[in-house]
Amino acid sequence: TAAYVTAMEKARPLNAYITETPDQALAMAKASDARRAKGESRAMDGLPLGIKDLYCTKGVQTTAGSHILGGFTPTYESTVTQKLWDAGAVMLGKLNLDEFAMGSANITSYYGTVESPWRKAGDNRPLVPGGSSGGSAAAVAAHAAIAATGTDTGGSIRQPASFTGIVGLKPTYGRCSRWGIVAFASSLDQAGPMTRSVTDAAIMMGVMAGYDAKDSTSVDIAVPDYRAALDGSVKGLRVGIPKEYRVDGMPAEIERQWQQGIAWLKEAGMEPVEVSLPHTKHALPTYYIIAPAEASSNLARYDGVRYGLRVEGDSLDKLYENTRAAGFGAEVKRRVLIGTYVLSAGYYDAYYLKAQKIRTLIADDFKKAYQQCDVILTPTSPSAAFALGEKMDDPVAMYMQDVFTVPANLAGIPGLSVPSGLSSDGLPLGLQVLGKAFDEETVLKVGRVIE
Ligand code: GLN
Repeated sequence: TAAYVTAMEKARPLNAYITETPDQALAMAKASDARRAKGESRAMDGLPLGIKDLYCTKGVQTTAGSHILGGFTPTYESTVTQKLWDAGAVMLGKLNLDEFAMGSANITSYYGTVESPWRKAGDNRPLVPGGSSGGSAAAVAAHAAIAATGTDTGGSIRQPASFTGIVGLKPTYGRCSRWGIVAFASSLDQAGPMTRSVTDAAIMMGVMAGYDAKDSTSVDIAVPDYRAALDGSVKGLRVGIPKEYRVDGMPAEIERQWQQGIAWLKEAGMEPVEVSLPHTKHALPTYYIIAPAEASSNLARYDGVRYGLRVEGDSLDKLYENTRAAGFGAEVKRRVLIGTYVLSAGYYDAYYLKAQKIRTLIADDFKKAYQQCDVILTPTSPSAAFALGEKMDDPVAMYMQDVFTVPANLAGIPGLSVPSGLSSDGLPLGLQVLGKAFDEETVLKVGRVIE
């Protein structure tokens, strides 16, 4: 832990951490050592983690990357972080993220942009770590945490994992408790591990997963031994290759990486089959209606009365207005506007209801595909990491980043990003393994073949 505290301090130029908790880390490590000395052994004894600053941590400020939560210190601990501490893990600090997890490059945080530790060959310009779990990805890639928690609403674990050469797992919706995690889009949000290997992801997943009576959407089914599942064979499993996942302008080297991935799985005894997910092209517009709709409702609670920032005004309405105007950044305001628009009486049927129907069609596409295959393989992202400052003023270009990741959130199925190699200019690329609902075991096992 002491070495990781030093590494965390050394990595400060990346701006991965919003809050460092070195004293807490050392005290937790000492307590874990003491229990171990008594012969007690737990799954994550003494492992120093970074926690995405969307998870409420008792007594430690939790910002969600937003000014509006300034000064908010939870009096409770999220279920998932509590499970990690109960398994012996140690908290190094709270990690930077896009404001309320809205973004794909970690450039919307009130606490500043995050830099990836990677550089293009022969080009020293700073790169984005991806987002929204950009602090988590940068910290793990820079060895400033052994692993980190992330959250994934439309790709926020998988895309930053692929940009920084690490492993990221978005579990099945309902697998991990969302209790105590600041809500973005409640029907899409999932917690998951971001690690340096598939084995680490399997171990951490086993600790994070499980039913929680405090989250009515968490599902009460047994948590398997993911670590043990990795020892099983993938021989005879069928891998689906969706023909609709070829987007215009996708670099040839991403296509090559994908073919390489298929070849590796074949070598391991898996059988590739072409599958069709015909509604894929509607996934992005559907997501960018449903996610803002839910966000506009979830974010209504930040009114200057209950949490964090308050900017006074002559009336209660003025206080709300002043607080929200000063407290939310541009991207969050854009989403609240889109969300309230698509939910408004006159447009609800045309946008929100339509999006819900398409969401069902997308989920059905996967159900049909999984009659022909056990997992699906795709690229995680249509590009490698881009330079800080690129795509900043074009929200739609940024939304396009999520083209391969949002379908899994809409369908509720698990998805894993595994590093698969480097681009021609030396940047990490990732492949995505999608699985059947609650079949994280097979997803991890197949991911292990690729890493
Ligand atoms: N990039 C997507 C968005 O901005 C996904 C974010 C996420 O998964 N939290 O909504």
